[in-house]
Amino acid sequence: MIPFVDLKVQFESIKIEIARELADVLEAQQFILGPKVKQFEKEFAKAHNIEFCLGCSNGTSAIRLALSALGVKQGDEVITTPHTFIATVEPIIELGAVPVFVDIKADTYCMDPDKIEEAITEKTKAIIAVHIYGQMCEMDRIQEIAQKYNLVLIEDAAQAHLSTYKGFYPGHYSDAATFSFYPGKNLGAYGDAGAVITKHKDVYEKMFVLRNHGRAPGSKYEHAHFGTNERMDDMQAGVLSVKLRYLQKWTEQRRKHAYLYSQTLKHVVVPAVHTDSSPVWHLYVIQTEDPALLAEHLKKEGIETGVHYPIPLHMQPALQWLGYKQGDFPVTEALSKHILSLPMFAELTDEQIRHVSTAVNRYCESQ
Ligand SMILES: *Cc1c(COP(=O)(O)O)cnc(C)c1O
Repeated sequence: MIPFVDLKVQFESIKIEIARELADVLEAQQFILGPKVKQFEKEFAKAHNIEFCLGCSNGTSAIRLALSALGVKQGDEVITTPHTFIATVEPIIELGAVPVFVDIKADTYCMDPDKIEEAITEKTKAIIAVHIYGQMCEMDRIQEIAQKYNLVLIEDAAQAHLSTYKGFYPGHYSDAATFSFYPGKNLGAYGDAGAVITKHKDVYEKMFVLRNHGRAPGSKYEHAHFGTNERMDDMQAGVLSVKLRYLQKWTEQRRKHAYLYSQTLKHVVVPAVHTDSSPVWHLYVIQTEDPALLAEHLKKEGIETGVHYPIPLHMQPALQWLGYKQGDFPVTEALSKHILSLPMFAELTDEQIRHVSTAVNRYCESQ
């Protein structure tokens, strides 16, 4: 049996360090925004070569904090892609702003920079570039457009911890990059957690206040702004600090796995990597004629797969009121019918990957 992700095998390798961190938190009895959170924020900023990091409750709240602190409000339009998890647009809508979609590139599945300008109106306030599957968008080109039209630029890097484009991490080209530490992400907590990194001190300070009920710094009962509770807890921060020490190594392992998959798979479309990009392979996604049939066959062979994502956001029942229709984003729509995510996690063995590739190849040859 080859699972889609196996968190247990990773836990076995770091058990002792994790136990020590959790015991520390219990001894200190500081559970929320305590010393472990501060420590992790420092480490995560350093890992991305940036000045500020704010830990928060999850990847969705990270996006909400960034949008809010960067001034996105009621009536603004925020440009993003329909080929992403719905959490990219939830905070836009919560703030009373409107998501405006642009299609993706057929090769990298990232936002197509050539399609951004035609989506810009006088209401456009921000762009959220989504580093889908762990591959960064063409951030220099997107940054150029954002600067030309004076737009806020945010990176949804929930799948792209330590990813680079032209040698730069998320946060370099933008006003803020947001992360999720959902357990299955490349850097995963043992619960919910997220973070925003930014090079702007004022943005960090605004998010700092918004994260904790809008409390004025140093004051307990004066609420300078309308905020809410988006805090990170120290148990999660402790777990994340332990895992962060191994993240580069785990990322290199994912890169090796992706390479081996691409070398051994035949008859399916393997992921394309932009020459300037160094993806971190949150997911390894192939394209095939009928992914549902292939998935069923692999399941019989004991291989788990996933689909990310079968329904483009503009076709989601919950977002019909945005007024999009089938045919609006042909690249995304065509892609969604053909994708299949193969098992991907650092601890996979070469043998397991070869086993998956052989199963895929044999199935395709039998068709
Ligand atoms: C996981 C994910 C999120 C949301 O993260 P949560 O921690 O689940 O709130 C946002 N965007 C993308 C692209 C994601 O993959």
